[in-house]
Amino acid sequence: MTDRTEDVFLTISIDTECDHDLAWARSKPLTFHSITHGLPNVLQPAFSSCGAVPTYLLTVEVMEDAESVEALRALQGQYEYGTHLHAAFIEPQKKFIDYAGVDSPDFQCSYPPNIEYQKLSNLSALFEQRFHYKATSFRAGRYGASEHSIDALERLGYLVDTSVTPHIAWEEPNARVDFRGAPEQPFFCSPGTIIQPGQERPILEVPVTMKPRWLRGPRWFRPWFSSVDQMKSIINYQLRKNRSQRVVVLNMMFHSMEIIPKATPYPQSDQDVMRFVDDMVEVLDWCSGLGVKFCGLSELRKQFGER
Ligand SMILES: [Zn+2]
Repeated sequence: MTDRTEDVFLTISIDTECDHDLAWARSKPLTFHSITHGLPNVLQPAFSSCGAVPTYLLTVEVMEDAESVEALRALQGQYEYGTHLHAAFIEPQKKFIDYAGVDSPDFQCSYPPNIEYQKLSNLSALFEQRFHYKATSFRAGRYGASEHSIDALERLGYLVDTSVTPHIAWEEPNARVDFRGAPEQPFFCSPGTIIQPGQERPILEVPVTMKPRWLRGPRWFRPWFSSVDQMKSIINYQLRKNRSQRVVVLNMMFHSMEIIPKATPYPQSDQDVMRFVDDMVEVLDWCSGLGVKFCGLSELRKQFGER
């Protein structure tokens, strides 16, 4: 096999939410430090320093918070905004009015398809109302997406979904999603499935980048979960494995609140946050040196077909 890769794109997809606690419940009282402080003062300066273009996938509670929306509208630098759904927090069949202290195990795909569609439609309308354009990139909360989610997103004009985590099956009391057979690189979902590649269609699936391991779950392309060397080895694995592909995509993921101490089970101190950001920037700089190009999630769609 010869090396046919012409372009390598790196995208960074970030679930952008209220602060959480060490057990992944929403903060009580509800706070938004990752939006009002984390994005403008930590993440955007870090991304700008290496030319990276993040995609912030916004949840309902963030778009309902006036101070957060103001901070998002004022955010400087290069980035894309999309949406992220925790299905219990939006009509129809909304389960919580006050989100403080609440966990959200619901998979959106456990709702009947017409209810899931209306939830996504309401989420998208909220985005459009706040930012005056349509969201085109999306990830499901808890990765709980199915083929119905893809169909709904496509009807709503989305260009990219990034809910698929290859090699992993997720289980909640009310549903199960199984991505173990999914491709590791972007693909168009075949009708009736979210893990089988098919013909070109409007919406592109961009899986979270993983490297499979024997006997254990895959290694995530994700700061804190993986060290600098481990992230580099994930990249090398993807480049080697996909060297016959013209375009190779690397999709780093994490949550906005991971860079606020104690707002997730991950970084707990300022030092932890520094390590997180330093590791991330080191890997992004290293990629830049390799000639990897940075782009937002929806930009990737242009690399895959004519639409
Ligand atoms: Zn989430």
